[in-house]
Amino acid sequence: MSLDEPPQIPFLDLTDVTEAVREEVLTGWTRVMDSRAFVGGRAVSQFESHFANLCATKEAIGTANGTDALHLVFRALGLGPGDEVVVPANTFVATAEAVVLAGARPRFADVDPETLLLTPPLLEEAITPRTRAVAVVHLYGQMPDMPALLTVAERHGIDLVEDAAQAHGASWGGRPAGSFGVAGAFSFYPGKNLGAFGDAGAVVTSDAQLAEKIRSMRDHGRVGGGHHEHALLGTNSRLDTVQAVVLDAKMSRLHRWNSARRVLAATYGALLDPVHAPLVAELPGSKGVHHLLVVRVAERDQLRLSLAAHGIGTGVHYPTPCHRMAPYAGYADGPLPVAERAGREVLSLPMYPGLRVSEVERVAALVNETVARGAFA
Ligand SMILES: *Cc1c(COP(=O)(O)O)cnc(C)c1O
Repeated sequence: MSLDEPPQIPFLDLTDVTEAVREEVLTGWTRVMDSRAFVGGRAVSQFESHFANLCATKEAIGTANGTDALHLVFRALGLGPGDEVVVPANTFVATAEAVVLAGARPRFADVDPETLLLTPPLLEEAITPRTRAVAVVHLYGQMPDMPALLTVAERHGIDLVEDAAQAHGASWGGRPAGSFGVAGAFSFYPGKNLGAFGDAGAVVTSDAQLAEKIRSMRDHGRVGGGHHEHALLGTNSRLDTVQAVVLDAKMSRLHRWNSARRVLAATYGALLDPVHAPLVAELPGSKGVHHLLVVRVAERDQLRLSLAAHGIGTGVHYPTPCHRMAPYAGYADGPLPVAERAGREVLSLPMYPGLRVSEVERVAALVNETVARGAFA
């Protein structure tokens, strides 16, 4: 790179959110090392109680990752062979994966063309007599119409589970993601809005019995504090103590970081060409947290290359809808045109706290210039 070339803008940069907690994490880790309690302990229970507070639920149960959080919820709800779970086709693979791991069948639903999220009519259409639950995904950090989805779920007597892995701190009508369904599942993968220094996840719920079951199942089905009493078929999916320290330190900064994302998203929204590079829409009731900043462009792959040539990193979330992936194609029962088209058009632009407004201006100007002229590199 020559001296007068503008600096690179990566798709994701964890520098700021890491440095902000460095001292606090090192202090907390020293305490963990001094205690020699590397599994469980006060750091985990303290994080769980803070996270339940954030989600306005009675309980939070730390897990090893977000996929396990979903999988444990489905198993604890008693889902298994013969049961169907409605899953929007436009999601990260883990939503469908967790359903299959629990022994149930995903039933794929299409998504709204503006928000790319599940809608009440699409849920209604996907429900069959075998449907036991729906996994509502707050994809990209934005929320669908939760009260209306809950009404449909209740009318059909099915459980609503929230996949809130991209929506830490998001809310609908002032009520936090994770508090609407029977349970919510979160991932703390490093790049998420609340990210660990490795893998981690959590289930939130206000159902005391479900919480107790999942708490037991994440720890080999142990009950009653006994080390050798295994009452349930469990697994090992505990939240690492060292990760709980990181998450607790970051959580006190989450709302500030989410506000920074909102400012950046509003800047993108004000600048981007609404015809050739429209943003994925957010519903008025949703106060989203913009985990990803997704636009739709016809010549997506060419635009990616052009931006890369200018040092701008991008991502695609997601190029292949779940019902088109080898392990899940057998569960598909028809084309899902909106999700399939989205797979060809979605492009995720740089988005993270610490990204500067001036950088957003540069990215938006380059996108506009490229798509309007069809001037792909
Ligand atoms: C990240 C993610 C998951 C899975 O979380 P892991 O911690 O990576 O297992 C599930 N669902 C969605 C929508 C995600 O973005």
